[in-house]
Amino acid sequence: MAGAVGALASKCTKTPFNMEVVPETVRLAVEMGASGASISRVYPMGRALRWLKQLTVRWEDFMSTVRRVYQEAPAEFIVNVECIPLRHYFDDEYRRQLERERQDQKNLSWNGCFAGVLTAHIEADGSVLPCAFFALPAGNVHTRRFREIWTGARLMQDLRRRDHLKGACGTCEYKYACGGCRGRALGLFGDYLAEDPLCPKSAFAFRSRNIQTSYATYRES
Ligand code: SF4
Repeated sequence: MAGAVGALASKCTKTPFNMEVVPETVRLAVEMGASGASISRVYPMGRALRWLKQLTVRWEDFMSTVRRVYQEAPAEFIVNVECIPLRHYFDDEYRRQLERERQDQKNLSWNGCFAGVLTAHIEADGSVLPCAFFALPAGNVHTRRFREIWTGARLMQDLRRRDHLKGACGTCEYKYACGGCRGRALGLFGDYLAEDPLCPKSAFAFRSRNIQTSYATYRES
C-alpha cells in the first residue's frame, strides 16, 4: 500500500442520499494517503436514468460540498470538480468565494471532457467505452485489438473532433477546452455530439431557468 500511495485517489458521486458522507469519505481518503479526490454529480446512464430526479443534487448543494471538502483538505491534496461545463464553473459564486478566501487555487482542479480523448474504459465483457459514463461501446477487445479501437473506431474519432459538436457546445468559445460532457449528451439526447444539457449555455437549461435539475426534468418533458 505504501508504494501505491502516490496513485491513490478517491472518487465520489454525490446524490441527495450521500450528501453528508462525502466530506467524511474524502477525509478517510486523506488519512489513507490519497493524493486527491474527484467529486461528480450523477450521470444519466444505466439504472440512474430511471431515478435521475431523485438522484440529482442542486448545483448549490454540490458546490457547497466541494467547498467544504476543499477547505478541510491539506494544501497539497487535489480536489477535482469532475465533468462540469466550463461556463458553469466560471459563473459559479462558490468558486469565486473560494478564490477570495484562498489564494492558492492550484489544488482545485477542473477538467474538460476526457471521453475518447484521454480515457477509455473496458467493461468486464470486453466492450470499450470512451469513458465509464458513456454507455455506447466503440468496439470489443475480444474481436478487435484495443489499439485499433482507440485509433480507428469512428466513435473515438468523432469525440476528438470538437468542430462537429452541435447546439450550444458547437458554437461555444470553450469547446476545445471543455467540450461538454459527451456522456450526458448521449444519455439525455441520444446523440453524443449534442450540447451538454447541464450547461447554462444550453437552450434547455436556460429555458427551464433551473439548471441544477434541467437534466432530471428533461426526461419527463
Ligand atoms: S456550451 Fe458546451 S463547451 Fe461551452 S462551456 Fe457549456 S458545456 Fe462547455
